Amino acid sequence: MTSIPRLPGHPNGLKFGAFDSDGGLLLRRVYYSIGGGFVVSDGELESVKSASPADADVPYPFANAHDMLVMANDAGLSIAQLKRANEQATTPRTRLDAGVDAIWTAMSACIDRGLSQDGIMPGGLKVKRRAKAIHAQLDAQWQRNEITPLMANDWLSVYAMAVNEENAGGGRVVTAPTNGAAGVIPAVLRYFLKFNAGASPANIRDYLLTAAAIGGIIKHNASISGAEVGCQGEVGSASAMAAAGLCAIMGGTPTQVENAAEIALEHHLGMTCDPVGGLVQIPCIERNAFGAVKAVTAASLAMKGDGVHAVPLDACVETMRQTGMDMSDRYKETSQAGLAVNFPAC
Ligand code: SF4
Repeated sequence: MTSIPRLPGHPNGLKFGAFDSDGGLLLRRVYYSIGGGFVVSDGELESVKSASPADADVPYPFANAHDMLVMANDAGLSIAQLKRANEQATTPRTRLDAGVDAIWTAMSACIDRGLSQDGIMPGGLKVKRRAKAIHAQLDAQWQRNEITPLMANDWLSVYAMAVNEENAGGGRVVTAPTNGAAGVIPAVLRYFLKFNAGASPANIRDYLLTAAAIGGIIKHNASISGAEVGCQGEVGSASAMAAAGLCAIMGGTPTQVENAAEIALEHHLGMTCDPVGGLVQIPCIERNAFGAVKAVTAASLAMKGDGVHAVPLDACVETMRQTGMDMSDRYKETSQAGLAVNFPAC
């Protein structure tokens, strides 16, 4: 595969030119897709990069996990409450809640759609959708009140795969924090709701607000873009966000929440992005299932501790950034190495 020279601002860049009938250049523009659905021009890129949450006109302008914990401690608030207060600086409470609820409704609908579809996903790899058939098996066990040792993993995996099969099939997903990693956060929340009859709408909002706080820290201090830092930045970030959200709604303290995020991210460090055929199918669909399982493990481990831990989340985020910078471009969404080149062509 010929490699195309990278544009200076971000690995995901496109240069557009408009020419007159004589081939004379009329207009040239450069745009970057920086992850999470955001597309900016080269002019906007610098201001996006230099903008710091610490300068935001909000009551708790935390730019990293350390400041977040100090502010939470000083104010006696949870991470979700800090994030809510910041959001409510610009958005009235009712509109904020309606927006967060709409996000969950879209995530949940995506899971349901993914669980009802079968067939082959587009793109030429002939990858079969599996979530519907797996869900039918799990649902049959559920109806028989059968408890199996693998139950938790199975439900988490099937929810995550349903979302990522929808993504691969061109369905509607919620970017969280990216489309390739969109299955982790919905899967963990749906799992919590299924196995906790007493769960409330407040749990849903706190989960998503907490996850958003962690995602913001990672995005600001490192990256959520597979093209920039590999899959550690996509599924790793999603797993950290979900772990933090789950820990919060299981009653975790702010330090336990930060610990949960750190554990989940730590165990995705170094993970490359090598999608087969440039399609977000292999390894992406199953990878989201693993991200969800790791998130639950991380939340559970954090809940069993007291929040005191060796590696702060900020150190882990910085490690991810440095690892991503050292990673060859061949492992950053270019499909030039890894599984993408060792996949047997049948
Ligand atoms: S392997 Fe690459 S494309 Fe697939 S989910 Fe990870 S970062 Fe996204």
